[in-house]
Amino acid sequence: MKTAIATVSISGDFTEKLAAIAAAGFDGIEIFENDFLAFDGGPREVGQMVRDHGLEISLFQPFRDFEGMPEPQRARVFDRAERKFELMGELGADLVLVCSNVSPLALGGIDRAAADFHELGERAARHGIRVGYEALAWGRHVSDHRDAWEIVRRADHPNVGLILDSFHTLARKIDPETIRSIPGDRIFFVQLADAPKIEMDLLYWSRHFRNMPGEGDLDVLGFVRAIAATGYDDVLSLEVFNDQFRGGSPKSISIDGHRSLIYLMDQVNRSEPDVRMSVPQMPDRIKVDGVEFVEFAADEEEAAELGAILHTLGFKRSGKHVSKDVDLWSQGGVKILINTEREGFAHSSYVVHGANVCDIGLRVNDAAATVQRARVLGADPFEQPIGPGQLKIPAIRGVGGGLIHFIDGESDLARVWDIEFEQVSDAKIPVDAGLTRIDHIAQTMNYEEMLTWLLFYTSIFETEKTPMVDVVDPAGLVRSQVIENASGSLRITLNGAENRRTLAGHFLAESFGSSVQHLAFATDDIFAAADALEANGFVSLVISPNYYDDLDARFGLDSDFLDRLRERNILYDRDDHGEYFQLYSPSYGEGFFFELVERRGGYRGYGAANAQFRIAAQKRHMRPAGMPRH
Ligand code: MG
Ligand code: MG
Repeated sequence: MKTAIATVSISGDFTEKLAAIAAAGFDGIEIFENDFLAFDGGPREVGQMVRDHGLEISLFQPFRDFEGMPEPQRARVFDRAERKFELMGELGADLVLVCSNVSPLALGGIDRAAADFHELGERAARHGIRVGYEALAWGRHVSDHRDAWEIVRRADHPNVGLILDSFHTLARKIDPETIRSIPGDRIFFVQLADAPKIEMDLLYWSRHFRNMPGEGDLDVLGFVRAIAATGYDDVLSLEVFNDQFRGGSPKSISIDGHRSLIYLMDQVNRSEPDVRMSVPQMPDRIKVDGVEFVEFAADEEEAAELGAILHTLGFKRSGKHVSKDVDLWSQGGVKILINTEREGFAHSSYVVHGANVCDIGLRVNDAAATVQRARVLGADPFEQPIGPGQLKIPAIRGVGGGLIHFIDGESDLARVWDIEFEQVSDAKIPVDAGLTRIDHIAQTMNYEEMLTWLLFYTSIFETEKTPMVDVVDPAGLVRSQVIENASGSLRITLNGAENRRTLAGHFLAESFGSSVQHLAFATDDIFAAADALEANGFVSLVISPNYYDDLDARFGLDSDFLDRLRERNILYDRDDHGEYFQLYSPSYGEGFFFELVERRGGYRGYGAANAQFRIAAQKRHMRPAGMPRH
């Protein structure tokens, strides 16, 4: 199977697009005439440029309002087709997409349309061109691939075939299983797009909200499985109209697109017997057992401040790296590293972002296999020179430029803490707060980049995405979406900031794209943890009394219980499965903070209803005393 992408799917001028598409590893492009109308060269030059990038023109599109026209329009439509065939000859394109007629003049009738296609097939054949027919979901008479197939069947011409587009089939809720009865050699081309489930006008939905397979909610996998079962083995092409992609980076959108196709084909191979799509062998999605460590890059002064905060959270400094300036702070199953080296990755991360989380360590079954899968999916492996006695720990670069290391139970990796760290014991021991593990890691990015992050995590790791929720910041919306696995051993919340006046946007802008904005630690007893923190001198985020009045109105809580929450600034939520408790630090620096959470009885969420109160409190705290409000 070959891969292609429509040039309209990405931004940039024509040459930028070609360079990005070729670099991402695609075999071909779908070309739109509009795409090169603004370009100075003629069609021959355009075709040569495409081939010079190592790409082929897999499809020329669109040819509109063709079939079922009355005279005199019918004659004109055929004249128009002849001119397109000549243009395609100059470009070096041999397949044209004809989409179903939307003109009010179109007469309808399967046989009439079939006769028109037969004649078009005759003319196309003289130019060495093939014609593919696609049912638009909003076509006037044909809006279903089953009707388009019947027309192609009756046209009965070797140069006329069917084009399938996942959006048009799935948006109209047509069962993709109906594709299995179509002969694979009559399918000329396959276009793929996903989309979020939103009830809206089909045309508007299609033109603005399509996204890459796996990024939306449509059953693109079921669609491609059905196509693969027909024996079709030609091109899978992305035809994605999306406003954010057209404003995004051509390079990163192309990489996302290619990743989405590789991931999709791998899923098809795993789920459809007798089908073997040509994607490199890779291990199945990686199961993550937990977060092994989180590493901060800092200078000495910030390291001391961060250490002091960790101390109030009940962490003790328990180890020191044998050869590097890296301290290990631990409590329960949580390990935090503070790296103050003057060279290496952590230092360059510090130079760009200031003090920040530069590295996350995940526990997996097989670290080498994890890097192998990530690499096939287009992630960058990471290596840096290691010192004597240090272990080589497999790693990749995350989307935001931070690192992800993988620790497994095989080999020496499991003993990295004993091998690379020597024990230290500080005189000042904090009261243990009973923190057991990292509950979730919250990463912030520009809203436009959220889908990139989502696809990265869900394609490499065995995780699912939850529906997106809007979080209200007084200065604007922040979109929040969760990537998590079934056991809860990996939970990442993605927060997409739309502007820099929100707390998330401010953090992103001021830290120059650092991604981890907060870490949430789990405890089995939030009240005991709060008391331990107080004994350690922790300053918690002060929550407005209005919040507790609102909480009482929402849940009708026992007044003693409400008092206990209020006294400790603990936030509360409840769902069908259980209860959730949250305690926050104020935000430090440009907006980083810590959170403590307790989940009771299988609560699944993240306290989304509380986020606006937390944000308002943190913003109040950030405003220097005496500064006028405006
Ligand atoms: Mg299409
Ligand atoms: Mg949180």
